[in-house]
Amino acid sequence: MVRTYREKLFFPQTASSLPCANQLEPWVRAAIPLSRATPSMSDANFRVPPAINEPVLDYAPGTQPRIDLEAAVKATRSEVVEVPIVIGGKEIRTGDTFDVVCPHDHGHVIAKVHKAKAEHVQQAADACRAAVDDWERMPWEHRVSIFLRAAEMLAGPRRMQMNAATMCGQSKTANQAEIDSACELIDFFRFNCEFLREMHEEQPESSPGMWNRVEYRGLEGFVFAVTPFNFTAIAGNLPTAPAMVGNTAIWKPSETSMLSSWRVMQLLQDAGLPDGVINFVPGDGPTIGDAALAHEDLTGLHFTGSTRVFQHLWQSIGNNLTNYRNYPRIVGETGGKDFVFAHPSAEVAPLCTALVRGAFEFQGQKCSAASRAYIPSSVWSSLESELVEQARSIKMGPVEDFSNFMSAVIDKRAFDKIKGYIDFAKESSEAEILVGGECDDSVGYFVQPTVIKTSNPNFKTMVEEIFGPVLTIFVYDDQDLEATLDSCNTASAYALTGAIFAKDRHAVVHLANRLRHAAGNFYINDKPTGAVVGQQPFGGGRASGTNDKAGSRMNLLRWTSVRTIKETFVPPTDYRHPYMG
Ligand code: NAD
Repeated sequence: MVRTYREKLFFPQTASSLPCANQLEPWVRAAIPLSRATPSMSDANFRVPPAINEPVLDYAPGTQPRIDLEAAVKATRSEVVEVPIVIGGKEIRTGDTFDVVCPHDHGHVIAKVHKAKAEHVQQAADACRAAVDDWERMPWEHRVSIFLRAAEMLAGPRRMQMNAATMCGQSKTANQAEIDSACELIDFFRFNCEFLREMHEEQPESSPGMWNRVEYRGLEGFVFAVTPFNFTAIAGNLPTAPAMVGNTAIWKPSETSMLSSWRVMQLLQDAGLPDGVINFVPGDGPTIGDAALAHEDLTGLHFTGSTRVFQHLWQSIGNNLTNYRNYPRIVGETGGKDFVFAHPSAEVAPLCTALVRGAFEFQGQKCSAASRAYIPSSVWSSLESELVEQARSIKMGPVEDFSNFMSAVIDKRAFDKIKGYIDFAKESSEAEILVGGECDDSVGYFVQPTVIKTSNPNFKTMVEEIFGPVLTIFVYDDQDLEATLDSCNTASAYALTGAIFAKDRHAVVHLANRLRHAAGNFYINDKPTGAVVGQQPFGGGRASGTNDKAGSRMNLLRWTSVRTIKETFVPPTDYRHPYMG
């Protein structure tokens, strides 16, 4: 272990006798400044290989990728993977395990996960301390090379295994797994490396006789990354984006996507991520969360998940504020109630496709999924039968059958919640189920693609996040455009994604202005889902999050603490100013 200047001040013994941070008494640990060294400089301004979006494989019948993916799915289903805790590069097995099942076949176990306890969070925080110095001092091009290598491994030899884990563990179809766990995660790794280099290039002006510089340091402490079940790519991005910048992280993956999260952790280790930079701590949310948020070294929360959990975590940070050495950065991307608003000039066929794909792909479990639509009566008269017909034609079943468009929702809790909303609509005099509405959890957690029509723009299913394959339609009188725009803007607490459909360009401008703050990702004549890293930076405002735009430079900036350096070449030697003469 290499000692830094500051460590030598604290521990004047020889390098070989210097204890690791996690072997020290707590009071000694507390005395070590967390930022311990100036990052090494490189002797060149390196360019990162240009980031390009990973091409999406189509898995058409008879192609080699299709054959390979089917084999990987078979292999994934034929074993039960044991998932350990990983702290400081060491695997820990507590023996207290929980099962991960296929949501579309919930009797089938694919992984057993060793649950972490609060003491493991302390160990992970110690591992972060032990790793941060060498990690932050590693020249940035070597840090990013690890993630570029991970991207190439995932694009090549690890692709099918990762997609199979996402298909079996999260019930994504081959296409939905491919765009998430392969392409989007590869894109996060590649583009963030490029964004990091661009960020370094942003430097201040210098007046004559001086040189002003800024240095993009990591934060002091660990970043707590808490990830959702629904995107393997998001799970991989939340701990790695801060790590790239020079931070260490404690990663708490979601209980229901453990197999793919574990595959991501293995990928990072095999790509050469040093021990302790990302510590993998699976387990019960509140147990891990309470311990991490109470820790004095917490310096950031990188969260994606529900609004309720995020608000609770933010509140806990507020309650612990006086314990921390730094003000923690809080980045959270949360729930949505994403809309499609059609103008009377909208074209019916693209609108219909956007509603079906936007609402039902991945069973409506995208934070961006279309879940409420405002349709003028003049358009509805030609849209209704087509929409009902298309929703009825959707094939739903296990992901192993590649002809299915939809599969099961993630777990029993989600199934019951979604069914509750559908039952509520069935019993209401303000709503009518146009198609779907049946739910069956005997083998897997299957919910039919469901379209509800309501006469009330504030109906429960028009304003609350359901997170399932349920689309509610409010048909408005063409004369009531302005009042309906108000309703779309204010009825729900969320502002994540939204789409408008119109052919009339004046209408496009008007709707975009009226819905200016209603969505962080706004679509014109397209579905509100499917944001691509590097093309549509993602995030929303209001109850949908802090809008720090995952997969962009804006997000990386949140994980840096900039040091401004002013160097004066010939400093003044007289305190008196000329005017005093
Ligand atoms: P969730 O909030 O139930 O869980 C998210 C994570 O928080 C999980 O890892 C969970 O274990 C953990 N958690 C729960 N309680 C905790 C606690 N007290 N302390 C620490 N961790 C705790 O969300 P989910 O069901 O996994 O994901 C679906 C939600 O995520 C939806 O609301 C969806 O809109 C949202 N989402 C948002 C975006 C976005 O970019 N805005 C993207 C994906 C998902």
